[in-house]
Amino acid sequence: MTRVELDPERCVGSGTCEMFAPDVFEVGDDGVVHVLVPAFDGAEPDEVREAVQACPTQALSLVD
Ligand code: SF4
Repeated sequence: MTRVELDPERCVGSGTCEMFAPDVFEVGDDGVVHVLVPAFDGAEPDEVREAVQACPTQALSLVD
């Protein structure tokens, strides 16, 4: 099981993660991203890992 963790205080709502994985991340009207799929059985999909790595403020992380 891999979980996506968000530090909402770091999120600036850039939408970068949503661009990589729109099924998993969605920037809300509040300007902070919402994690629509917070956990995966086994390894995370490639686009989710890319989204986490692309976040400009390191607001996202993956936890096994
Ligand atoms: S890429 Fe990072 S800063 Fe941008 S919306 Fe996603 S979590 Fe927030």
